[in-house]
Amino acid sequence: MTRILFSDKLDQCVAKWRSAGITVIGPVQGESLSTYAAVEKASDFAFGIVLPDRSLKELFFPQTEPMLRYTIKKNEIETTDFAPPAAPRIIFGARPCDASGLAIDDPLFGWDYKDEYWFKRRNESVIVTIACTESDDFCMCTSLKHSPDSTKGSDVLLRPLDKNRGWVVEELTDRGREAFALISEEIKESDETALPTAEVPEKFNLDTCVTWLQNPVNFDSKFWKEISMRCIGCASCTYLCPTCHCFDIQDEGDTYSGIRRKNWDSCSFALFTMHTSGHNPRATQSARWRQRIMHKFNYFPGKFSVNSCSGCGRCSRQCPVDMGITETLQEISKL
Ligand code: SF4
Ligand code: SF4
Repeated sequence: MTRILFSDKLDQCVAKWRSAGITVIGPVQGESLSTYAAVEKASDFAFGIVLPDRSLKELFFPQTEPMLRYTIKKNEIETTDFAPPAAPRIIFGARPCDASGLAIDDPLFGWDYKDEYWFKRRNESVIVTIACTESDDFCMCTSLKHSPDSTKGSDVLLRPLDKNRGWVVEELTDRGREAFALISEEIKESDETALPTAEVPEKFNLDTCVTWLQNPVNFDSKFWKEISMRCIGCASCTYLCPTCHCFDIQDEGDTYSGIRRKNWDSCSFALFTMHTSGHNPRATQSARWRQRIMHKFNYFPGKFSVNSCSGCGRCSRQCPVDMGITETLQEISKL
């Protein structure tokens, strides 16, 4: 027997979670982009989207957020911290590659300094993933040794039934079990089976790519210039990536008062490594693209034992000049 949540019970589930003070978030279709956002009722969810345009990371690591307010007085500087918001929430219908992205970034945000903003939100969020039964040409989770039903970073995994009738429920963590205990009356025992997961073909051999990247001789390969010639440095690939995590801290204000903010930054921008002297150690777009690939598949796994990529494919799907990590790794695996 399996435990099933039928779709026609989802409205009651959303209402129960909301009346328990939990914000319910899920994939929604905006005017121009799809994203993860708060919902009020089941019909607000857009489950038909293969993958929202914007990733889950921005619910944990917003594009910009205030850290403190400062006021400079005659003999002192007053500061007031902005505490990370306390808000229990359920993210219902995340894709496994987005949930994996959060788990990939956990060690980074907890490394030498524990980022309280990230972990407060992580600790207050229940991630309910829906296994993928469809994929598109850009999905590449299997090439990264993940899968359409990966449980990494997930508290509850749902496997869809046919005809959008509901989901087989697999509770994975205590946090997931607690959240689903609130809707236990809506879950039925059944002998129904879930649809098979999507078949996502492998696009390249990751081990071959990593071996090439780890060879110091290839740092200066002419390949980097050839593969990145058309990159315009727009940073869409990093901003939409569920694992890219670079940020900058800036003070916005005047001589006497202001707000210190944490803002996304990107290795794709020339200014990212520009020194005050005017010297830029990554002076060309090819050097910046090489850094992005090396960071994800050589330096990051060297430090945290995991690649900084969940295979969501957004960087290729959304690139305005049709580049992306897929093409680069496919070409590397041929070298
Ligand atoms: S690879 Fe594409 S999305 Fe990324 S910075 Fe270059 S042009 Fe923009
Ligand atoms: S590098 Fe590309 S495929 Fe990998 S997680 Fe980021 S956006 Fe997705």
